[in-house]
Amino acid sequence: MQDETIFGKIIRREIPADIVHEDEHVIAFRDIAPQAPVHVLFVPKTTIATLNDVTPDQSDVLGTLVLAAAHYARREGLAEDGYRVVINCNQAGGQTVFQLHLHLLAGAPLGRFGTSR
Ligand code: 5GP
Repeated sequence: MQDETIFGKIIRREIPADIVHEDEHVIAFRDIAPQAPVHVLFVPKTTIATLNDVTPDQSDVLGTLVLAAAHYARREGLAEDGYRVVINCNQAGGQTVFQLHLHLLAGAPLGRFGTSR
């Protein structure tokens, strides 16, 4: 599945991205359409389409993603002011790329979230 998404292409370096972190399990790069001064996407290298598809034996994937984001926030001096992490799931959740990913938003006070109506 990852191979079929734009994020798979980024992981394989088939299309460019502003990559800010990569290790064995996770790649992180700046969102092409940032919704905050800092907007970074954390994508596991495991092929999982949505949060719905994470099985109990893959809970380490979620832990790794969240901890990678928290580590990045500390590294970039964002942790004390604060930040938001978001995982959108399926259409009503606003998911547009069907490879599991976590958004890290920071750099300015963030508004409340909810429906678009
Ligand atoms: P979702 O809506 O699925 O939660 O988040 C997908 C995110 O991927 C969106 O915020 C969108 O701006 C971002 N995105 C889509 N295509 C690309 C791309 O080619 N490069 C980068 N860096 N981000 C992308």
